[in-house]
Amino acid sequence: MREAFDLFLMHRQQAKVAHVLNERKLLPRGSKASKKLAWSKEGIGRILKSPIYAGFMMYGDELHPGEHPPLIEESSYRAAQAILAGTSRVVRWTGTNPDYVLRSLVRCALCGEMMCPGSTTKPSTGKTHRYYRCSRREKYGKDQCAGRPLPAAALEEFVVARISNATADGTLAERVAKHLETLTAGKGEDFGKLRAELAKKIAECSANASRLTEELVRLEGRARELVEQKLGVEADRLAASEQQLRDLERDAAELEIARKDHVWFVAALRDFAKVWVNMSPDNQGRFLRALIDKVVVDEGKGTCRVELIDFCAASGTKEAA
Ligand SMILES: [Zn+2]
Repeated sequence: MREAFDLFLMHRQQAKVAHVLNERKLLPRGSKASKKLAWSKEGIGRILKSPIYAGFMMYGDELHPGEHPPLIEESSYRAAQAILAGTSRVVRWTGTNPDYVLRSLVRCALCGEMMCPGSTTKPSTGKTHRYYRCSRREKYGKDQCAGRPLPAAALEEFVVARISNATADGTLAERVAKHLETLTAGKGEDFGKLRAELAKKIAECSANASRLTEELVRLEGRARELVEQKLGVEADRLAASEQQLRDLERDAAELEIARKDHVWFVAALRDFAKVWVNMSPDNQGRFLRALIDKVVVDEGKGTCRVELIDFCAASGTKEAA
């Protein structure tokens, strides 16, 4: 494996690497004396492109450190990718690029799998093109799914136009606002009361604990053991109450954030056309993920269905934008 990378960084040609390895009789795994396999240009290409040898794993469209030790240096892997990108079109997985505002929302109509962001750069022009790609087709090949990569910009424009329409009369914003209110309604009103109760409990426990500690000094034998037990119980109660108070403060903070998010989201829905163009790509993505359940694209039939999240759970129906 390491040999293949070293040779490629030296010769910069997959065919040359295959030739040298075959000459040196460093044959692919599975070769036996009876049935000798030989390296092909494609076989070498597969090895060079696989992140596994550099100790990475693919999860969806993202490169993550794997649990296995790397067989080659990450720098060798990256260098090989750079050379490959110059000679052939290699998909660059853009797991964190915020420009893909429909990340984790697009589904392939043919197989139902997620369509993941991945860009290619044309070697002739150096221009980068963004696509959403069927993850099934990317993982298992063209014969497993015929869903072709979708140009990202056109799809994003289409979805934004749909949302522009769906939000135009303002009723969607009102419905969402009502829905979000019911989610947090009544929550947090008792925070003050709970906080006071816990503070009182904590004070009681600590007072008991210090009284028992004082008693302990004067006691010996069986009597001392009993008081020690009591002290243990008080200490546990104190720790539990303190933990409850910390949980309560965290819930209060989360609720505060949720309410602020709701306000932001509803304001953007009310004035979508104006707000959208000024939003950062990160916020555009956040907004769309809060609004859309999924986007199902069937290029063959020329259809694109934008399904919104169900904002009135009682009726149990999905809305189509
Ligand atoms: Zn597919």
